[in-house]
Amino acid sequence: MRLQPQREAIVRFGRKLITSQLTTGAGGNLSVCDRAAGLIAISPSGIDYFDLQAKDVVVVDGDGYVVEGRCKPSSELDFHLALYRSRPEIAAVVHTHSVYATTMACLGWEIPAVHYLVGFSGHKVPLAPYATFGTPQLAEHVVRGIGSFNAVLLANHGLVSVGTDLARAFNVAEEIELVARIYYQARSVGEPVILPEAEMERVLAKFASYGQPQRGFGDNQI
Ligand code: 13P
Ligand code: ZN
Repeated sequence: MRLQPQREAIVRFGRKLITSQLTTGAGGNLSVCDRAAGLIAISPSGIDYFDLQAKDVVVVDGDGYVVEGRCKPSSELDFHLALYRSRPEIAAVVHTHSVYATTMACLGWEIPAVHYLVGFSGHKVPLAPYATFGTPQLAEHVVRGIGSFNAVLLANHGLVSVGTDLARAFNVAEEIELVARIYYQARSVGEPVILPEAEMERVLAKFASYGQPQRGFGDNQI
């Protein structure tokens, strides 16, 4: 089986999407890119994460042709492929329908630096305009909207995060959901203080060396 460890990681993190309450049912999707092999492992479309097995994960090439796997790939294959093309440093993409991030996306709000953990995305989480799920137009919006950030809100839909491995991309989605919840709650009772850009620059510089020297977030993981 091609990309077996990557397929197993997709099964593992797919279940975590549910247990971490970042999505429901078969919503959202995940992929991992093996750049040396020129192949991408992506979750299949519409399969419950607790029914998902490694053999159901679909392997496609950079143009989206199925190389291995009997299932239909995620309906969002286009934006996964477009992100790997536009961001050569990334190797994983996670898409969620997490409740607070999606609430921001339904209001048409970006998430500003209300808490330093927004640094998992950058100095904010930008917002991409609405397009129907699974369309090339949505893929265009995602790529343009995310720019060089690590996360982007999809208007009236959800969140997309990226990372150099699946653990990191997943962690971005988790932390941004926390920040979205804090922003929602803070705005519900008052006017939150937003960190200035210069402070976010300091935070982002510190993030570069955060954690253990040889083992940052998700190092040596897929
Ligand atoms: P898939 O099950 O086809 O991946 O679709 C889920 C989704 O979130 C669409 O945006
Ligand atoms: Zn979706």
